[in-house]
Amino acid sequence: MNVQHVYEEGLCMQCGTCEGVCPTGAVALTWDLRAGYLLSVDAQTCTDCGHCHEACPGPGLDFSPGAWWRERNEGALTEDFLGPWRQLWFGWASDETVRHEGASGGVATALMQAALATGAADAVVAVRMSATSPLEAEAVICRSPEEVAACRGSKYNVVATNTVLRRILEEPGRYALVGLPCHIQGLRLAQRRSRRLRERVVLTLGIFCGLTCEPRATAVAARQAGLDREELSFVSYRGPGWPGGMRLETRRGAARGRHYPDYFDGFMAALTPPRCRICPDALAELADISVGDAWLDRFTGSDGVSDVIVRTPAGERLLAGAAEYLSLQPAGPQEMVASQRETHVVKRDVRRGRLWLRSLARRPLPDYPGLDLSASAGDRLRGVAEAARERLFRFLADRRYPD
Ligand SMILES: Cc1cc2nc3c(=O)[nH]c(=O)nc-3n(C[C@H](O)[C@H](O)[C@H](O)COP(=O)(O)OP(=O)(O)OC[C@H]3O[C@@H](n4cnc5c(N)ncnc54)[C@H](O)[C@@H]3O)c2cc1C
Repeated sequence: MNVQHVYEEGLCMQCGTCEGVCPTGAVALTWDLRAGYLLSVDAQTCTDCGHCHEACPGPGLDFSPGAWWRERNEGALTEDFLGPWRQLWFGWASDETVRHEGASGGVATALMQAALATGAADAVVAVRMSATSPLEAEAVICRSPEEVAACRGSKYNVVATNTVLRRILEEPGRYALVGLPCHIQGLRLAQRRSRRLRERVVLTLGIFCGLTCEPRATAVAARQAGLDREELSFVSYRGPGWPGGMRLETRRGAARGRHYPDYFDGFMAALTPPRCRICPDALAELADISVGDAWLDRFTGSDGVSDVIVRTPAGERLLAGAAEYLSLQPAGPQEMVASQRETHVVKRDVRRGRLWLRSLARRPLPDYPGLDLSASAGDRLRGVAEAARERLFRFLADRRYPD
């Protein structure tokens, strides 16, 4: 069995794991302005080995207390939404430039630079915007602190990071991988059956994710700013400072900037891959360390503060080795959840409402054992309201900003 049916059922998370683990190169994800990625499986070269299907997080994942992926993490505390954790911190990069230029204090960049400097990893998989196709985010393998720094900042844009697993399988070394929850889920499923991937990807840094956007969302933002998307030469979404903003530049020298979250309007919120709306994993529960914005009043006006959730013994070792790279303040579970109030609503209440709507339409649902799927009347209302808003803004985007 291969992943074609997952894609056709609308359950593909666009993480890229299927292409990354396919031994014959039969599975391919092709970048697309509207969809993000289009999946194809070449019937001639597919041997039906099932590797792609086993590693696909699209059909769902076990989040119950006894789930296989929690087995090597004894002693971790756990609760709904927060996931397993051993330490909780608020933090930022000690280096002022890394902090200022990062999305929420540069913790991800600082941790990955520390991983390289201490030898915890030989290389880091991170994401940057393509130099030749500025609406396209791409995964890169970084081997120097400068290359890691060049990937800083959140990209509100889909990226099939895990296609890079093919290179990792071919090129020996010890890798750290930075990814959204879907990337980390796909990686863990792939590692479950591949010893080589377990030995090579030794660290994972999860980036919190409420929703990501289709590439077209950035094209719409460019049109709103009066720029031709074909002319774009540079796109960034966050930084400098906190929370920073979007910056768009063209080959003709025009530049536009807009603060975050002002630019994250109805269009950006609507033009997101539908599968994201039914994913419950906001905080990358399967990562060694997870980071996100610490949206708390007490950090307003600072140069960026991240939530830092240290989940596994490997994460604890990485953090201990990164002491001089980070400034940390102790955090508690309630304050950490409070810092993600909006994302909590999206990934719990709205998600249950969207799943309920999907079930009414008799569309296949992902299976998430261990998570409460029963939608209250309020959840259903939220799901209907969000679906209606999404349809409206998709319609308006087609009318006002055709490709
Ligand atoms: C799509 C998306 C949705 C998010 N949703 C939330 C949210 O709901 N709540 C919240 O608190 N935080 C969210 N974040 C995380 C937040 O925006 C910051 O990325 C995070 O706090 C890390 O900041 P930093 O300064 O430590 O990272 P930096 O030092 O700036 O480094 C950012 C790292 O993230 C990686 N990265 C950037 N974009 C992507 C991407 N699309 N896919 C994979 N890796 C990527 C880069 O490679 C880089 O290594 C989201 C991020 C993204 C990309």
